[in-house]
Amino acid sequence: MNTKIWLSSPHIGGNELKYIHEAFDENWVAPLGPNVNGFENDLEKFLNSDTKVAALSSGTAALHLALIILGIGNGDEVLCQSFTFSASANPIIYAGAKPVFVDSESETWNICPKYLEIAINDRISKGKKPKAIIVVHLYGMPAKMDEIMEISRKYEIPLIEDAAEALGSTYKNKKCGTFGEMAVLSFNGNKIITTSGGGALVCKTDKQKEKAVFLSTQARDNAPHYQHSEIGYNYRMSNICAGIGRGQMEVLEQRISARRKMHDFYIDIFKNFAGVNVFSEPNSDYFSNHWLSAITINPAIAGFSREDLRLKLLGDNIESRPLWKPMHLQPVFSDAPFYGEKISENLFECGLCLPSGSNLTDEEKERIKNVILS
Ligand SMILES: *Cc1c(COP(=O)(O)O)cnc(C)c1O
Repeated sequence: MNTKIWLSSPHIGGNELKYIHEAFDENWVAPLGPNVNGFENDLEKFLNSDTKVAALSSGTAALHLALIILGIGNGDEVLCQSFTFSASANPIIYAGAKPVFVDSESETWNICPKYLEIAINDRISKGKKPKAIIVVHLYGMPAKMDEIMEISRKYEIPLIEDAAEALGSTYKNKKCGTFGEMAVLSFNGNKIITTSGGGALVCKTDKQKEKAVFLSTQARDNAPHYQHSEIGYNYRMSNICAGIGRGQMEVLEQRISARRKMHDFYIDIFKNFAGVNVFSEPNSDYFSNHWLSAITINPAIAGFSREDLRLKLLGDNIESRPLWKPMHLQPVFSDAPFYGEKISENLFECGLCLPSGSNLTDEEKERIKNVILS
């Protein structure tokens, strides 16, 4: 059997171990220390927009805290892009709130501004104004931020960006993760950079960041003994993981350019395939980090389906994966309202993510290409 080619695997830079050794040498083996502060500074510099970043244990934890800090609680409604990973929606339930799902539009595959506004008006007419909007930059592709920000302002509903997949992507030269009232990043093992597991909350103010750090370290009041006036969480990033993050930040630009080259690689392979579309930026306002390269296949034209190709790749031990199954079609969210048509459902039916790692060798790329061309 050939060695496995993964969809997206960790790609270590070089200095990660140096930062971890420093942590050991100085005994900062804890969820605080110089690497945590250093990693937050690196992220703030990279995002470059007066952001305040709190490093946390996961992107999911970051989203949970974003909802709490925005005051979302029992019975509130939160609008959420349906076409995404479940971690965009689960924290709404953790917070005691209810998700209201919105379909995507076909250019960026992200939340559809038209249905977002329809959803807001319908929820208001039913007596409940939604408390937040969660927009996702899926597979690294920026959402239609001008339209979405305009709706957020018009109805005064705060926007949370799920930029877990979009570190380094930009919309009109502004980084994803700097548009919303808050944003979340993820450094899980499969993301464009990793801390083995981890995430961050991107805030607009020092006060928000302080609140995030306070809540993520068990909400201790200022007292010599343990005293609590609020429910806390154990969500802070470990200083060891943050050491990996500091090393990864040194190679982030290289990782972005390698992922974008994978996108070009697939553009080249599929250029002569009728009925196959490689997911690409709609125009030059959008710059995707192309975290995952994705295609859609029209079987009637292509002569093969997304499952045909997936199984063919699997036969050569190459991992690929159908696009996200929309949240409004998930059994666990079957009671949640949904606004839209069948855009995300159709993407799920005919779309496939292809190996996109920044560490794929020329040999591995050759294998992928040969299977597809065959
Ligand atoms: C990975 C991911 C998350 C969750 O991040 P974790 O760090 O794994 O908790 C949230 N949203 C999206 C869109 C993701 O891809």
